[in-house]
Amino acid sequence: MAVDIQIPPIIKIGAGSFLEAPAILTRLNCTRPLIVTDAFFAGQGLPGKLQNQIVQSGLECGIFSDTVPDPTTDAVDAGVRAFFKGNHDALVSLGGGSPIDTAKAIGMLAANGGHARDYKVPNPIPRASPPHIAIPATAGTGSEVTRFAVITDSARNEKMLIAGASLLPSAAVLDYELSMSMPPRLTADTGTDALTHCIEAYVSRKANGFTDTIALAAMKTIWAELPRAYREPGNRAAREAMMQAATFAGIAFSNASVALVHGMSRPLGVFFHVPHGLSNAMLLPAVTAFSVDSAADRYADCARAMGIATGSDSTKAADARLIEALFERNAELEVPSPKKYGISEKRFFEVIPTMAAQALASGSPQNNPRVPTAGEIEELYREIWK
Ligand code: NAD
Repeated sequence: MAVDIQIPPIIKIGAGSFLEAPAILTRLNCTRPLIVTDAFFAGQGLPGKLQNQIVQSGLECGIFSDTVPDPTTDAVDAGVRAFFKGNHDALVSLGGGSPIDTAKAIGMLAANGGHARDYKVPNPIPRASPPHIAIPATAGTGSEVTRFAVITDSARNEKMLIAGASLLPSAAVLDYELSMSMPPRLTADTGTDALTHCIEAYVSRKANGFTDTIALAAMKTIWAELPRAYREPGNRAAREAMMQAATFAGIAFSNASVALVHGMSRPLGVFFHVPHGLSNAMLLPAVTAFSVDSAADRYADCARAMGIATGSDSTKAADARLIEALFERNAELEVPSPKKYGISEKRFFEVIPTMAAQALASGSPQNNPRVPTAGEIEELYREIWK
């Protein structure tokens, strides 16, 4: 069967490249962009600097900085109002995955109308969005190159997956200097999100030769560089390597899929506000142990690509080493269990059936090498508790 690979037509890479957005806007024939960012970046003055640069190049430009982490439909609706009020014709997102996903949803609703929940997977998005330049400041989600947006339904408390080619940004600008301000916890969590994208894309039932090559290359880099970026926030080489690898990881999973870790991770974000990368980290070792026998060769390839096992190790030995190394890595990056994170035990166990149902409904677990039952997902949540 033919594979349909979709990546943004423009990818600009390099230190300081975020200020090249005006030239890209001109290339895209846009004259009135809206910068979509969050309060942290607004406080740092970066969106203002970008706005000045855009205005100096003869374009009009507004700023919407009311995005929130794990973006909600309420925040998206406010963004849509700002988009129409300023008569904008393009979006420039600046920040982590949350501002980028917010911009994707703003563009989708500006072009199609309705409510974000109308486009939840598997519903189609009929019309194309306005042009969107995505400028990531975390080395994690890969959202700058994916055809997905993750939006929390404010009314129903559900993290919805929205998918479609029209969500793919028109351009991604990878300026690793924007990621240098990430504190160690955010570095670890977003980096583990990217590692999870690589592993899940590679073992996914939708993996293909194109995504395999990219996923293996990116997981090798992330495995080596993430501890360096975590311990030495000012290490430019590690930051640069992580920024590019996270984008590769995004290309890999956007053109294959994510799987069980992501399916189970989203409900932990919704119910307990665990940051997305951290909930992935809490789940990755246990879910890998659960899945490994159903794709033993593929997980062994991952272990070898990351340098955890060698070519002379048997598949079984490489798989065992991978699981062990993932647990060790969590300890090194100080990943807490849900219990140590401070979640209420009563509430956690109460919502396990609902979290399992939401995980299954997202469709991601169906791409896992071992497709779990609802009961098995519930058991995995219980297993990671302590
Ligand atoms: P985020 O955008 O939610 O940001 C988290 C916090 O970190 C915010 O307070 C932000 O201001 C701060 N921050 C971001 N960059 C910083 C920097 N350089 N320095 C200092 N602080 C910084 O974090 P994220 O992990 O990048 O994004 C998570 C969101 O992305 C979740 O909603 C997740 O579901 C989504 N996601 C989307 C995709 C996709 O393909 N669309 C893939 C994975 C995850």
